[in-house]
Amino acid sequence: MALIVQKFGGTSVGTVERIEQVAEKVKKFREAGDDIVVVVSAMSGETNRLIGLAKQIMDQPIPRELDVMVSTGEQVTIALLSMALIKRGVPAVSYTGNQVRILTDSSHTKARILSIDDANIRADLKAGRVVVVAGFQGVDEHGNITTLGRGGSDTTGVALAAALKADECQIYTDVDGVYTTDPRVVPQARRLDKITFEEMLEMASLGSKVLQIRSVEFAGKYNVPLRVLHSFQEGPGTLITLDEEESMEQPIISGIAFNRDEAKLTIRGVPDTPGVAFKILGPISAANVEVDMIVQNVAHDNTTDFTFTVHRNDYQAALEILKQTATSIGAREATGDTNIAKVSIVGVGMRSHAGVASRMFEALAKETINIQMISTSEIKVSVVIEEKYLELAVRALHTAFELDAPARQGE
Ligand code: ADP
Ligand code: ASP
Ligand code: MG
Repeated sequence: MALIVQKFGGTSVGTVERIEQVAEKVKKFREAGDDIVVVVSAMSGETNRLIGLAKQIMDQPIPRELDVMVSTGEQVTIALLSMALIKRGVPAVSYTGNQVRILTDSSHTKARILSIDDANIRADLKAGRVVVVAGFQGVDEHGNITTLGRGGSDTTGVALAAALKADECQIYTDVDGVYTTDPRVVPQARRLDKITFEEMLEMASLGSKVLQIRSVEFAGKYNVPLRVLHSFQEGPGTLITLDEEESMEQPIISGIAFNRDEAKLTIRGVPDTPGVAFKILGPISAANVEVDMIVQNVAHDNTTDFTFTVHRNDYQAALEILKQTATSIGAREATGDTNIAKVSIVGVGMRSHAGVASRMFEALAKETINIQMISTSEIKVSVVIEEKYLELAVRALHTAFELDAPARQGE
């Protein structure tokens, strides 16, 4: 008998009918003899709706109160799913994060899980009940409700699986696995049978929102067998695994990630003296703004141009700071651009292949897409381009790295 944690995302519990369907599915697993812990998200759109309400009161809602409110979305779905199970003769019980005691730190809206008390859940499983846990939420040491950041139910699922030493954590969603890139953008995208934790972590950090980044970190750290599957279609899904299988067919690139969440800031004509990077980025980081990519060009007149990217939410604040810095250090100007997007190719196969970056640049050049910034690591290459070329770029790279689904390759 296995212990399985099953997480169902927002669209999978988006209506009462779907919740009934989820209950049917869980019932089948239960009847096959497995112990089941279910984690659910709020109904799709609900978290956004709640945040919208708060923003009608204030532009920057008070984080503690926001958490009190957005955590209600998951409280509704755990109760509905438990009822749907009990109606079917499957003993079930719902738990909020607080009731389980998913202890987190106190960083409201982006809390980290510190520990999980598994006593209640284990007792219920032993008594033959399906346990239905609210995703995305926890409680801090003072009893305040916290949430884990958008998409955080994935992390609840994986953290519970780790705490319970579950045999598998299954993430059920509206796609039948992890694809080479977002199948909603590139119809030729292919489902991957397997992807390594390392690659999945890069994909998630670089914009593939199919799994929350922290859930992948957790799964890698505690070696939780993790699988992404479609909620209502049969299929093997995608296994996130530790081993980097050496197969003849191992592709150089496993996937392409992209995001439109960043903005670019540039300061020009900065006197080129030691410590200049610190003078520019120090005030930015002091304002708690995270910087992603950085490029510095030295001009022949002993000045330098410095460009970096930040999250779009931080753009206005960062630009204000940069303008002040420009005045105080005697730079020529500070400007910004929000019409950018970042496209990244990811794959452990890159380690053993040369020329991957140039192949990427060639594919973009063929589409006359200008590259504004570049950054690389051992298993990824990212470029910043103009936002309007994003989809074209992703499609071109998908073809250039031979990722297109076979049916589309000229059958
Ligand atoms: P849930 O509500 O179930 O948590 P999400 O919307 O968070 O679902 O994640 C599923 C979505 O992730 C898919 O609908 C898909 O558009 C998107 N996605 C982005 N990149 C990928 C990828 N590489 N593979 C699969 N899905 C992806
Ligand atoms: N309901 C939360 C969100 O929309 C958490 C989740 O769905 O994973 O972000
Ligand atoms: Mg999600």
